[in-house]
Amino acid sequence: MSHAEHDEPFDAGSCPVRQQRPALRRISGSRKELGEGMEISRLLPSRQLRMIGAWTFLDHIGPADVSQGKGVRVGPHPHTGLQTFTWMIRGEMLHRDSLGTVQMIRPGQVNLMTAGRGISHSEESPAQRSPEFHAAQLWIALPESKRFIPPAFEHHPVLPATTLGDLDMVVIAGSAFGLTAPTTIHSPLMAADIGARRDLATSVPLNPRFEHGLMLLQGAITVEGESLSTSDLLYLAPGRDGCDIEVSAGSRLLLIGGEPFGEDVLMWWNFVGRGKAEISGFVQQWNAGDPLFGTVTGYAGERLLSPLPPWQA
Ligand code: MN
Repeated sequence: MSHAEHDEPFDAGSCPVRQQRPALRRISGSRKELGEGMEISRLLPSRQLRMIGAWTFLDHIGPADVSQGKGVRVGPHPHTGLQTFTWMIRGEMLHRDSLGTVQMIRPGQVNLMTAGRGISHSEESPAQRSPEFHAAQLWIALPESKRFIPPAFEHHPVLPATTLGDLDMVVIAGSAFGLTAPTTIHSPLMAADIGARRDLATSVPLNPRFEHGLMLLQGAITVEGESLSTSDLLYLAPGRDGCDIEVSAGSRLLLIGGEPFGEDVLMWWNFVGRGKAEISGFVQQWNAGDPLFGTVTGYAGERLLSPLPPWQA
């Protein structure tokens, strides 16, 4: 996806709150709209929290009724310095990119696009589709040593799964619960979808070297006294080996985690970089049609132009 509006820039390295974080902290998502009434909760970045490990962006999209109208339509736009990570819960979406990839994604599948030095892509609802759309879309910042690697795309139709008591765990990035996902990652991180078969109270094991975020995809959950809605993200500081949850039958959670990133990231529009001059350069190159970002073919619509960053406006 693309940033739907012009967020303020932020500098993760200058965020002063890291030292005083309580062990559990609720992040309330800001409501966005992705056209035609499709509701999005943006959990990362937020004013309270910029990153969790290398996870630098998290949108909870829908559930939305896409039976009428055009559904999702995000025209060709660029990315740098990051990976886009899509986890489908319900519905379908068609991805096209400047590598020539044309890939439908369906529930239980991951699309992972590595922008590296530069890529462009589009995303759209197919004409033949399910009435409901529900997904999580995330970005992973690439570390300094990897942020100019060649662009790449991976589709993973099947992810490793296990059970832990009455919880169904699907590991979609990194390693957790004794499983390792096939998704290519470049820093220590994880993500998992957790489903509850019945009402239960239990503990979810965590990697104490990671900070984590827990988001409710559907159902109802209380985490150590904190009741979450589907537009909340619960932040868990490093040093925990688990968290106690009470969930209702049929609930699903998204758990993300990673080692604190430790690099100063500047993120603006669809670019991740390390400074204003670099981001300004990406904006200029994309808007001028620079071949760095390639060309998306087959999308019936216009490419998205980058607005000017606020430091240039
Ligand atoms: Mn995108």
